Formats: sequence, C-alpha cells, structure tokens
Amino acid sequence: MVGKLFGTTGIRGTANDFLTPEFCSKIACVFGNYLNEKFNAKNILVGTDPRTSSDMIKNAVISGLLSAGCDVYDSGITSTPSIQYAVKEKIYKFDAGIMITGSHIPIDRNGIKFFMPDGNEVYGKIEEELENIYFGDKFKRASWNEIGKIYAADAGKIYKEMLLREGIKVSKEEKLTVIVDTGHGAQSYIMPLVLRELGHKIITLNAQMDGFFPGRPSETDKKNLENLMKVVQTLNADLGVAFDGDGDRSIFVDDKGKYVMGDITGAIIADYLMREGDIVVTGISTSAIIDYVAEKHRGRIIRTKVGAADVVGAIMKNNAVFGFEENGGSIFPTLNLGREGGLTAVKILKILHDKKKKLSEIIADYPKFYQIKEKIQCKDELKNKLTLAIKERIRTEYNDAKIDETDGVKILSGSGWILFRPSWTEEIYRIFAEGKTESEAEELIEFGRRIANEELNKLV
Ligand code: MG
Repeated sequence: MVGKLFGTTGIRGTANDFLTPEFCSKIACVFGNYLNEKFNAKNILVGTDPRTSSDMIKNAVISGLLSAGCDVYDSGITSTPSIQYAVKEKIYKFDAGIMITGSHIPIDRNGIKFFMPDGNEVYGKIEEELENIYFGDKFKRASWNEIGKIYAADAGKIYKEMLLREGIKVSKEEKLTVIVDTGHGAQSYIMPLVLRELGHKIITLNAQMDGFFPGRPSETDKKNLENLMKVVQTLNADLGVAFDGDGDRSIFVDDKGKYVMGDITGAIIADYLMREGDIVVTGISTSAIIDYVAEKHRGRIIRTKVGAADVVGAIMKNNAVFGFEENGGSIFPTLNLGREGGLTAVKILKILHDKKKKLSEIIADYPKFYQIKEKIQCKDELKNKLTLAIKERIRTEYNDAKIDETDGVKILSGSGWILFRPSWTEEIYRIFAEGKTESEAEELIEFGRRIANEELNKLV
C-alpha cells in the first residue's frame, strides 16, 4: 500500500497520535537507508525546536537513524536555518539533516523536516520515493557491528558565526534599539546574542524557550504580535523583529510600531541585492511592490505557486539572487537553500545602517499598494471544482481578462489583481485583492467575493 505522509513542508501531525515514537523511528530509518544508498551519506545532523514533544520525537528519530547505520550529530534545540546551513556548508562532516519542529502550527502538533546533502529540503519526487520505501517496508537494518553512534554538535554556533559575518557591526553612536520577540521558539538563544554582538541595544520578549508558548503562539501574524507593536511604541524603539517557532521566518515592526508585511520586507531586501538584469523569485500572492523594484533594476520577477519549496526550486533553476514569500520567509541562495529568519533580521539591520534611515522612512519611499485578504468556507472536495468554475466564469463574461493559472486563478485588472486560491491546510478558499488605492482594492475584493460565493452555491 502506498500512502501520503508528506504535506506542504515535511511530515506533520499530532504528537503521540500520528507522530508516535514507532512512526518517527521507522521514517528516520527509511531516510537513513535512502541516504546510504543514493549518496553514501552517513553523518546526519539533528536539531529540534522547544515543543513539549520534540525530545520524544528526536530520540525516536535518532534510534531510527542509528539502526540504518547512520551516525547522528545531535545539536539539541536549534533553528531550522542553522541545520540547513550547517549541512550545506560542509565545513563539518554532516551529510544531511533532520529538524524536528512544528514551526508555527498549534502546540499539540509537531513535525519532521528532512534535508538533503546540498542543504535543500526534501520535496516532490524524493518525498514519493521515501513514502514508497516506507509503505513497502523496502529498507534494511544495520547488522550489530554497523549500528551508528551519537555525537554532540552545535549547529547554532556555526550559524551564529555566519550571521555575524553577514551583518554589520555598528558603533555606539549608530546603535539601534531593537525589540526581539522570539516567541518562545528556537531562535531564543541565538538571535538576541547575534544582534547584541552586532552592537545594538536588544530588549527581548518571549525569549524563554517554552513548548507551552505562554506569551504568544508561534505564528508571526498581526494578532500575535500586538505586544511587540506596543512595546516598540512605548519604548520608542527603532525596530521590532519577531520569529516563528523554528526561526525560518521573521516579521518586522517599524519605528512607529506598525506591523510590516513580508512582501514589503522582501521588496526592500530585493531592492538592496538586485543588480541590473537579476532575477528574484516570489509566490503568486506577493504584492506588486516587487514589480516596481524589478523595473527599477531592469530585472525579472518569477512567480511560483505559494510555498517555500516552489520558491527554492525556481531560484535554483533560474539562478536567482533572492527569493521571498509574503509570510516573512526570505531565501538568500548563496548562503542557505531555505527560508532564513535570522539572516533576514541581520540584513534589515544592515540596510537601516547603510541607508541611515528609519524603517518607516524606507517604506515611505515605495509606492503604496492596498491589499485585502478574505476567506470563505469550502469543503476540500469542492475546491478544485470551484477554481475551474471561477476560471470558466471569468473567461466567458470577461473575454479580454488576463488570467494567470500558476496557483488557483489570478486576474489582473487595471492597476490591481484578484487571486482565488484553495487552502489545503484548512477547509477554506482564499480570495486576495490588491489595488493602487483603497477603493480599488475594495471593489476588487467585493467582485471576487461575489463571484466565488455564486459559483460555490452552484456546486453545493
Ligand atoms: Mg517556520
């Protein structure tokens, strides 16, 4: 029997329900077998976030790897980008990696992310191969004299050195006050230290690692960062930065205490990195602010399906200089082949230093776009039918409409756009609209909502 284990990123599920020690050990043994066979890879770096179930899952994963004959380098609690970076760099002998993390999902759940010898996350065809080996029981156990050993490792230390090299050390006069909200997650022990070593005044929020997440949930959306916004305002700080649970994404709060969308942060970094003709990759739902940046540099934007794996894939295929997602995941491919919450924070501080401007002033230099995001309830089995129905409706009623089918249906209209896209993690269907003015965005979202509801009603 062949089934599906991998979701949008790695394997996720409820701790001790789907993610039992038995399951975690078996899938890790499968991964160890795959690495042995395809890459002759033996040394696996393992890290975890601070979730309550992470130690249990880690120990099961380690057992599975040892039984496949792999040696394990246990890095303890550390961020996802630190594992990816340490594997990619090859300064130590790590051949591949596993990160145990629930990232931003609810506290009773957890997950396992697998990293290949080049530091990229396992996805697509390799996921299917691993599932085939798992369900077909097509893997070997090492004989008694080839069982692996466990060693201690410190991916965080390797990662920290890279961040310090990539950042800029400021003088006493230039130092900024930065409020760092690590959300009880994996970046808690490293990012406050890195930013302090770069010369800034750091005040931490939620920086004690705690799998119960008493201060805030690990997702960095606006409602979870209200405290951070208030603290930045009250203390008159220059910047606020928040990380998600495994530290691969970061979101900023400007000097006025305003939440900054990941699209804007991504556009600011792209603007800083792009040279004439360069390529930047982002998801289909990212704001047109990035098109403005690309035009300025006579560069090109490639838009992919929503999700880090697709963005990384397109970066590698097109030799792009940078990639990002609107949720605050930025990818700097020469340094790390995955989302990089820590590096993003270090680069934003470098940009503030180089431009000698506040973040709110930098943002004000860009054209403003207005976005509205909505969702409607929709059962999984109706989602693809709804996408098709919306596409047909737009084609017949507006035959000159420009339609982009990269992910769902995106319609370009005037200086704005609407995107209809199913969510596969919840029973909802998303509608995004963006316009040059607030009223244009409102008109577009109203149109989108009406079309989606009418077509959904015909299906139920
Ligand atoms: Mg994450």
